Amino acid sequence: MTERFGGSFTQQEAIPEDAIEAAVAVLRSGRLHRYNSDDGEVAALEREFAAYTGAKYALAVASGGYAMGAALRAVGVKPGDKVLTNAFTLAPVPGAIAGVGGVPVFVGVTEALTIDLDDLQAKASSASVLMLSHMRGHLADMDRLMQICDAAGVTVIEDCAHTMGATWRGRMSGRDGLIGCYSVQTYKHMNAGEGGFLITDDDDIAARAILLSGSYMLYARHGTVPPEAAFERAKYVTPNLSGRMDNLRAAILRPQLWRLELQCEAWNARYRIVEEGLQNTPGLTVVERPDEETFVGSSIQFLLLDWPDGYVSEVLSRCAARGVQLKWFGGAEPEGFTSRYDSWRYAPSERMPASDRVLRGTIDMRLPLTFSLDDCALIARIIRAEVGAVWQSING
Ligand SMILES: *Cc1c(COP(=O)(O)O)cnc(C)c1O
Repeated sequence: MTERFGGSFTQQEAIPEDAIEAAVAVLRSGRLHRYNSDDGEVAALEREFAAYTGAKYALAVASGGYAMGAALRAVGVKPGDKVLTNAFTLAPVPGAIAGVGGVPVFVGVTEALTIDLDDLQAKASSASVLMLSHMRGHLADMDRLMQICDAAGVTVIEDCAHTMGATWRGRMSGRDGLIGCYSVQTYKHMNAGEGGFLITDDDDIAARAILLSGSYMLYARHGTVPPEAAFERAKYVTPNLSGRMDNLRAAILRPQLWRLELQCEAWNARYRIVEEGLQNTPGLTVVERPDEETFVGSSIQFLLLDWPDGYVSEVLSRCAARGVQLKWFGGAEPEGFTSRYDSWRYAPSERMPASDRVLRGTIDMRLPLTFSLDDCALIARIIRAEVGAVWQSING
């Protein structure tokens, strides 16, 4: 009998009971706005997130995209400025750059699905800021990346939407750059529906970001507060671009943060089973993970490199018929979130043949924690069988 998977690739776990209780308490209090309490849930969450990442300052905001936009403004990106970023990432990343009037300069992607450091080296002199997206949780060699950027005077902002909880040589993702940005919308590592964080050690960046987020001069009520002098320098020249987090979301997030490490382990157990099940499948390349990286396997990618036209979509439809939803970054048109640098036509770029080859073969799959380990083994068997069948038809 043909095996079929019946689970949902978009079903997250329920919000934990203690988080629900904390949320209900906020609702009963009526004090949902962060400045409606002197030291409420948002301030507590900021302290806890700063402690978790080891950053001096954490700011909770309305979304990950908002955090990136605030980061770009805080480092001084002005309309017309070029900003380096990944050719392989999701639309809110070039969107954040365009949102401040910046001009994205796309840097290629390697078979490891990380930013191409040779291409970065070649383009580093063309901009003073890199918005680095750790797309799908793959960390580039952060030592070399920082060397390149430091040597070229490029400020690094990290988009850690997929690396909350990940490390490079023991350093938390988001701590190499001047600023780290995170998302806590439903499909990320903590689920508040919408929300984000910005972290930094820099007093002036923190003060500007707090003012940007819309502090009505109540910045002393933040969880982590830079010195008054930093606010004095910024407070009359920084616009208020309201994008605060509220106490309800923060109440939902705090208990999730306390459990984040366990959740990351649960993701990795699932990841390892799928990865193991896909090893040595003819025609399929498993993405190697470097020893320096500890990742969070909330999704998995593999490559069908150099397949002739038409056959990758055959794999997708055969897997879909058996309940396995794969996303493909090589289709002619974006479907859902699978846009790529050439889809963002407001930011025209030269073609990057080596990156195009990788993207044409990049398959992506979510691994929600509602999947059991057995589910993951079944999913891997299905992919393996369908890739194998199509590969046979090409080479048979
Ligand atoms: C989700 C995501 C973001 C932005 O987060 P939002 O909270 O949805 O604004 C940024 N970068 C990547 C790679 C993402 O996946």
